[in-house]
Amino acid sequence: MPIFADPALFPSFHELPSSSTPPSPAPPADWFLLAQIKEDMTITKPTVIVRDRSGADFAVTFEDGDHRGLGHGGIRFRKGHTLVVPRATRTDRGEGKQAIVRVPPGEGANVRILPAGLDQVFEIGAVLDGIEGAGKGKKCAACGKEEEEEVEHQLMRCTGCGVVAYCSKACQVRGWSELGHKANCKVIRSIKEIWS
Ligand SMILES: [Zn+2]
Ligand SMILES: [Zn+2]
Repeated sequence: MPIFADPALFPSFHELPSSSTPPSPAPPADWFLLAQIKEDMTITKPTVIVRDRSGADFAVTFEDGDHRGLGHGGIRFRKGHTLVVPRATRTDRGEGKQAIVRVPPGEGANVRILPAGLDQVFEIGAVLDGIEGAGKGKKCAACGKEEEEEVEHQLMRCTGCGVVAYCSKACQVRGWSELGHKANCKVIRSIKEIWS
C-alpha cells in the first residue's frame, strides 16, 4: 500500500519535476500527483482544474485526448474525486501564464481516478498504514480487538476490499454503517487496484 505522506512518492504541484528539465538522474521509482477535481473545463482537449495537497490550483490537460483509462468506458471527471497522474511533470509556460500539468500523448490511459476527495484519500491512507504497517498486528476495525492465533478467533476480512478486518458480525455491521466503512470500502478497492 502506498504511503501518501511520502513527498517523494506523492509530491505536490510545486514539487513536481519540470517538463523542460527532466530530472537527472532519473528518479528511481514512479511518483504520483494526487489532486482533487474542482472543475471539468473540457472543450476539445480533456482539461480539468484540480487542487493539490498544498492548496495550489492548476490545470491538467490530456494532450492526445486519450482518456480511456478514466472511469468505465468513458471520461468521468467528477467534481470532488481525486485524479492520480503517474510521473506527472510541471510545464512552465512563461511570464503571466500559469504552469500546468500536461499528460503527454500515450500516457492518458495510465491516469486514474479515486472516488473520493483528497482529504478522505489521505485519511484512508493513514488507516491503511496503521493496518498494514510494519510490526502492527491485525485488529478489529470496530472494537480494536487483536487477532489471535487460534483459527476460531481470527478476524474476518471485509469481502469488499479484503483489507479491513472484524472480530464478529456485529462489529462488521457497526464498521460498515456507524463507522463509515461503507464510504471507504470502494476507495480502498481503487487504491489497491492502482498500487498493489
Ligand atoms: Zn470487534
Ligand atoms: Zn471493505
